Amino acid sequence: MIPYNKPYIAGKELFNISRAVIEHGCISGDGAFTKECQDWLQKHLECNKVLLTHSCTGALEMSAILCDIQPGDEVIMPSFTFVSTANAFVLRGGVPVFIDIRPDTLNMDENKIKAAITKKTKAIVPVHYAGVPCAMDVICDIAKKHNLYIIEDAAQALLSSYNGKYLGTIGDIGTLSFHETKNIISGEGGALLLNNEKFIERAEVIWEKGTNRKKFFRGEVDKYTWVDVGGSFLPSEIIAAFLFAQLEMAEKIIDSRRNTFSLYSTLLAPLAKQGKIKLPWVENTYHPENSDDYSSSFNGHIFYIITASNKERTDLIAYLKSKDILAVFHYIPLHSSPAGMKYGRADEELVNTDTLSERVLRLPLFYGMEEWQVEMVVQEIERFYKNQA
Ligand SMILES: *Cc1c(COP(=O)(O)O)cnc(C)c1O
Repeated sequence: MIPYNKPYIAGKELFNISRAVIEHGCISGDGAFTKECQDWLQKHLECNKVLLTHSCTGALEMSAILCDIQPGDEVIMPSFTFVSTANAFVLRGGVPVFIDIRPDTLNMDENKIKAAITKKTKAIVPVHYAGVPCAMDVICDIAKKHNLYIIEDAAQALLSSYNGKYLGTIGDIGTLSFHETKNIISGEGGALLLNNEKFIERAEVIWEKGTNRKKFFRGEVDKYTWVDVGGSFLPSEIIAAFLFAQLEMAEKIIDSRRNTFSLYSTLLAPLAKQGKIKLPWVENTYHPENSDDYSSSFNGHIFYIITASNKERTDLIAYLKSKDILAVFHYIPLHSSPAGMKYGRADEELVNTDTLSERVLRLPLFYGMEEWQVEMVVQEIERFYKNQA
């Protein structure tokens, strides 16, 4: 069977976990491995300050508190994203305002942002779908002009870059995920990237249940106490120990995913040429030399195809499943979901979101996927289309 995703051990994960218990004698949060992970991310992403969290969802929730989202405040985001992008703001009383995506990258259409801005708009949340960058130069210009915060949902985008800067480090805040379906994993896990320095001090407090415990440990106050709202956003050292082993292997893991991505692109090109399917936007991601706008490295997070219709996608999923190949789809658009309609609103009719989300199909892609497995997936897709004809 070929799964669509598979967790893996990249190196020293289990060794690190035993070290946390036996050597460090600490498996709660904010210990030696948490610091190692944070330092690694700060150094490799060239980021001011990183706090490890138990999930990207948690990091997004912290972002909403940091931006002081109040009931009725509006936050502009794509509808084609995971629920956490919206939930984090709804929990503070914020209103997600959903805009459409671009048909080429499936990222938020930067040209739709201006029209969605009202007096209540507080922030923009670009989601870098599949690890491909949103048009951050345009988004940053708009945010600056209208005095809005940018929170990058970079859950899928670790070590992808845009104009020489890593995704998640461009806006005021960035959020990463280490969920087992992402490139670098710790089961559940995430990180908050604090690019705007004004958030750093308060973020440490929110992270530690609203207390000034971090200041206490640094000897800056003589007792620690409740000073602000907060939550428990720290991961355990067991998670951080696992994650650090993965981060140390990040380059190798991402290279391997890029190779798989590239092999899919090559092998599926004929079907795309015949107009049967559409391939992901490789021009500017995999071949940055083709564009002036992007000097990007791409993390090969998702390889998807776009089928001609929703029915064709359903049939293809069933066909692949009959051959023991698991391909999956996402996302059900948020603007027309029960909670999305209750808590948010669409700025207009979201034509691309509606017509593309029902045709996107994610193919198997995981670290350690063998070439023959990719070839087999492609062969079966080709067979499916031959049978259709
Ligand atoms: C995976 C994902 C999240 C949630 O990440 P968790 O770490 O599981 O909380 C949020 N946004 C996007 C775009 C994602 O892909």
